[in-house]
Amino acid sequence: MGILFPLDSILSVYSIKLLNNLAIYKDDTIYFDFQNKIFRHKDKTFKFLYEIRDNKIYVNGKDIALIIYRLTSIPIFWDYKSNELFRAIETIKKFQIIENSDSCVLIFTLSRNTKEQLWLEENAILIHLPDGFYPKFNFIKGDSGIIDSIAIFHTKEGAFFKIFVSTKYGSYKKIKENYVLKFILYSYGNFGYIVIDPGHGGKDPGAIGKWGIKEKDITLSVSKKIANILKKEYGFKVILTREEDIFLSLSERAEIAKRYNAKLFVSIHCNYSEVDNAFGPETYFLSTARTSEERAVEALENSVIKYEVEESDILKFIVSDILQNAYLKESQKLAFFVHEKLKDGRNDRGIKQAGFYVLRKVYAPSILIEIGFISNPEEAKLLMDEEYQNKLAKAIAEGIKNYIDWYIRR
Ligand SMILES: [Zn+2]
Repeated sequence: MGILFPLDSILSVYSIKLLNNLAIYKDDTIYFDFQNKIFRHKDKTFKFLYEIRDNKIYVNGKDIALIIYRLTSIPIFWDYKSNELFRAIETIKKFQIIENSDSCVLIFTLSRNTKEQLWLEENAILIHLPDGFYPKFNFIKGDSGIIDSIAIFHTKEGAFFKIFVSTKYGSYKKIKENYVLKFILYSYGNFGYIVIDPGHGGKDPGAIGKWGIKEKDITLSVSKKIANILKKEYGFKVILTREEDIFLSLSERAEIAKRYNAKLFVSIHCNYSEVDNAFGPETYFLSTARTSEERAVEALENSVIKYEVEESDILKFIVSDILQNAYLKESQKLAFFVHEKLKDGRNDRGIKQAGFYVLRKVYAPSILIEIGFISNPEEAKLLMDEEYQNKLAKAIAEGIKNYIDWYIRR
């Protein structure tokens, strides 16, 4: 319950009279309901704790501060660090929250220039305003999908606003103009389109594994699950290059990415090996294949070209290679974040590099994931399992989200 004070002797310092269940100051009154441990002021109800000792009512410092502030408007607060009542300097005149569909704006109107500080915590943003005081409320509920709740607390150092954010929170921007301080919190929906590309489809089955299972079916199922998590859990905008069992050329896939001005491109595939016991996921980013193994996977995934009428414009490839280079570092980083989640509890085959055509034509950070070997009976069984597919999709979606966090907050 903290440190308790006799209510009447503290209130008398501020000329607040205490009569039975009333606290009176000038023309204003607070009503105490001791039985329910609440007090009422102007139709608002506040909780408080009390004890009776030697016929005196003892209340903790925080509640006394609230009673004084409510009646007299004197900015008194309880400093829980030094355990004393403290008179604040009112530097915050107004605090507003404006909610939009994909962003949320916190506006502090200050009475003078103060130097704010900001900390990013796992699920919260902590904003400190020196000498700040804002006791109008302690908790509000937002509905933009970004803010879960806001808690305000004070110490001698000033006011702390703890903004609890949901999983839909992406990044923030600070704008300070004269005495107005704005924080714009963006949702992931603001990031732009993520394109998920289920490998193969239609007349191109991809690799055919044990019991005749087809790569194209597994990639579609897992891709849909990834898209669903990215959309529902984090609020991202997501496009699938195909939602059915249809054939799409590699150029058409890249074309879709271009049409939506994709910010990320993730192609989903299954691996195949003549060696029966090869298993585990691999994450590729575009580069020149380094090892003979990488070259084999590259050749396999590029073999879809045989289904296409490929324009043999070498110049176009050279230009696209140069453009892609700009995204090489980011693609490598994306591969790192995704693989970090994907390898968890699985046989780690690592991050690899290869020259996949489908990635070459995408002008955004892009990766290709081989989620597992359909040639391996054990892994093929897993890849067909709904629960295992969900696990893979969750890992990939989290990896993508972690990359985007890194990208927009760096
Ligand atoms: Zn494939």
